[in-house]
Amino acid sequence: MTDVKSGFSIERRGHDLRFRTVSLTAREWLAPDYVRVRLTGDDLRGFDSPGADDHMRLFFPTGPVSSIDELRAAPSREYTPLAWGDDWLDVEFAVHGDAGVAAPWAATAPFGSSIGVGGPRGSAVISGTPGAWFLVGDETAIPAIRRFAAAIPLETPARIVVETVSAGREVEIDAPVEVEWLHRGDAASGSSLVAFLERLTAEDAVGSDPFVFIAAEQTVVRPGRALLDRWGVDPANAVVKGYWKRGAAEYHAPH
Ligand SMILES: Cc1cc2nc3c(=O)[nH]c(=O)nc-3n(C[C@H](O)[C@H](O)[C@H](O)COP(=O)(O)OP(=O)(O)OC[C@H]3O[C@@H](n4cnc5c(N)ncnc54)[C@H](O)[C@@H]3O)c2cc1C
Repeated sequence: MTDVKSGFSIERRGHDLRFRTVSLTAREWLAPDYVRVRLTGDDLRGFDSPGADDHMRLFFPTGPVSSIDELRAAPSREYTPLAWGDDWLDVEFAVHGDAGVAAPWAATAPFGSSIGVGGPRGSAVISGTPGAWFLVGDETAIPAIRRFAAAIPLETPARIVVETVSAGREVEIDAPVEVEWLHRGDAASGSSLVAFLERLTAEDAVGSDPFVFIAAEQTVVRPGRALLDRWGVDPANAVVKGYWKRGAAEYHAPH
């Protein structure tokens, strides 16, 4: 409850903003509408992403660029760094049809294609130990959910709920609890999550002092915030965010 001191907090850290050029070297389809790609390049040396829901900006130029300014002028979209090493970075993309820039690139760009990576310019890092974990999202939040799930200690109460189209579109997520899948079928993205969040009462709270992460199409934000209220969770100790907005290209979530 908000008047009881929490055992954790979310610490904000800023980073020097860097732009890197990388190229596409591998692609693995995890579901018919979900693809993991590997980006490779010496520029990635020093890349870091301390926060599980960090985002970087990927830049998609239509041809070769000769300066950072030219790169920054290219269309860009926000993505979550999933995993990385000295010269590689894995990113997962929800492939949502032919519209847009990022998803079609991830689905069809030839190996060797170059894109830019900007950031992450800041991280929100959990400091201390949440008493429980509640992770909820659609396909676009799976990378962040994978990273949070990897940090959940065994035996800590947790619930992970992910919406996708159907059972055939589920992907494997390593977690200490079984992932609960909601299927929206032909209904609008986010609709199953909204209905799920609205059904939860104060009695459904996952343990005490939970870390709550809710990210999906932006219609989840209002029921997500209402749930924090019902559960007495301090919004400063939670992330409730629209990761995209139906009908809006290049949506910028309010921070
Ligand atoms: C902090 C943050 C982290 C994110 N991390 C990831 C990530 O790791 N992986 C990931 O896949 N996405 C992630 N996203 C979401 C991603 O940035 C958006 O989905 C983005 O709009 C996709 O760009 P696009 O060029 O494919 O489509 P846009 O040009 O932006 O949009 C074109 C059309 O497609 C629609 N659209 C966009 N995304 C979707 C979708 N997922 N499903 C259905 N319709 C859609 C738009 O409403 C619009 O009508 C993240 C967003 C944020 C804010």
